[in-house]
Amino acid sequence: MTYDLIIVGGGIGGAALAATMARAGDAVLLLEKSTEYEDRVRGEWIAPWGVVEVRRLGFYDLLRGAGGHHITSHVHYDESRRPEAAETTALPLGIFAEKVPGPLAIGHPHHCQTLFDEAVRAGAETVRGANVTDIVLGTSPSVTFEQDGKARTEKARLVVGAEGRMSPTRKQADIKLHQDKPHHWFAGLLVEGVEGWDETRQAIGTEGRFGFLAFPQGGDKIRVYGGYALEDKGRFAGKDGPRKFLESFRMNCAPGNEAIADGTPAGPLLSYFNNDSWTDTPFAEGCVLIGDAAGWNDPINGLGLSITYRDVRMVSDILRATPEGAQPDFTSYGHERAERMRRLRFAGHLQASLDMEFDEAARERRRRYLERAAADPSLGLHGAAIMGGPESVPDEIFTDAHKERVLNG
Ligand SMILES: Cc1cc2nc3c(=O)[nH]c(=O)nc-3n(C[C@H](O)[C@H](O)[C@H](O)COP(=O)(O)OP(=O)(O)OC[C@H]3O[C@@H](n4cnc5c(N)ncnc54)[C@H](O)[C@@H]3O)c2cc1C
Repeated sequence: MTYDLIIVGGGIGGAALAATMARAGDAVLLLEKSTEYEDRVRGEWIAPWGVVEVRRLGFYDLLRGAGGHHITSHVHYDESRRPEAAETTALPLGIFAEKVPGPLAIGHPHHCQTLFDEAVRAGAETVRGANVTDIVLGTSPSVTFEQDGKARTEKARLVVGAEGRMSPTRKQADIKLHQDKPHHWFAGLLVEGVEGWDETRQAIGTEGRFGFLAFPQGGDKIRVYGGYALEDKGRFAGKDGPRKFLESFRMNCAPGNEAIADGTPAGPLLSYFNNDSWTDTPFAEGCVLIGDAAGWNDPINGLGLSITYRDVRMVSDILRATPEGAQPDFTSYGHERAERMRRLRFAGHLQASLDMEFDEAARERRRRYLERAAADPSLGLHGAAIMGGPESVPDEIFTDAHKERVLNG
């Protein structure tokens, strides 16, 4: 065996696992397809429970040193209430995890490169521009890839699939990916020149046929997302798409959004349909899947990074505890992940129903929900699961009874 691990995909999950296991003394080969990380409109906001995972893995100082900054308050605007009412009830974000002032924001390409460099520093062998042509699993795993036009085959005890949504390792292992139906479109854009936005404050809100989310990235940059109905496909297509998208942020209920609408696109505008996916068993003989490769949560929750960091922590703990020469047993990881994703899927469905439906009935439901949640904060506990982690709220929050109370109570 040349390597303990071959990790296919050097995004957040692959690079973080490579750095962690190289630090632990394993021989790691990390294969990344791209030659440069680009803005693909991916996660730039780590929830407080994800920050706890980052800390446990020993990456917190690294990410802070690379420019990661904390967001400490959250404003929920809505067309049913005055902006002042939303702003005076801003939620402090330091309440969800001990010693975590709030979510951590860091640009995705820079985040990937920071972890990749850390993997190199820790002693992992890395290949950029790797074109993986064959993955063999089972009792004698190997990966064949082209590097600088030459084919190379390497063996390892274990192959880790960390290639994101379209994982070839998952396909090779014949692990079924379940997906639920898309709920809405979700477009994202990095905007610069946003003057006067408090960089410690995030905001969400819905007005008309558009729901927005805004996460400051430091300085005058903001990562913004906009949700719109499936039947509005093409709303932001074409050359004028980014400008039309930014114009949608001008809302009576959120006057501060004018600064976003007046900003300048600083990256591509990409639209995805929002849904959830999951795998029953994210491992097979000779391989384990982490991050999006193992199934993703609806991006409306903004939890893919937190999920991925927990995967890295759990898988690396199992690998470190496996005696030399023995096969790692990922059963506990599979069980924990299945329940984690079930809960987050539930929270995502509820959040999408509340924030990303745009007819009269949905508008009235949102108004009533905001009014009732102000008097009874237990109605918003599915949101606390998004911030504090899926296990931080009672089991009964993930039931039809809670859903009924939130949507129709
Ligand atoms: C619109 C949108 C917004 C989001 N916002 C948030 C957010 O605010 N917060 C949050 O926590 N999450 C968010 N997410 C989710 C988050 O971005 C992902 O869950 C996270 O990036 C998953 O990390 P990963 O390492 O598993 O996969 P990826 O980030 O997809 O990385 C996979 C890596 O593998 C490489 N690769 C792919 N195929 C191969 C191959 N064949 N060989 C070698 N390398 C390969 C790719 O180049 C890439 O570098 C968002 C997602 C979307 C779609």
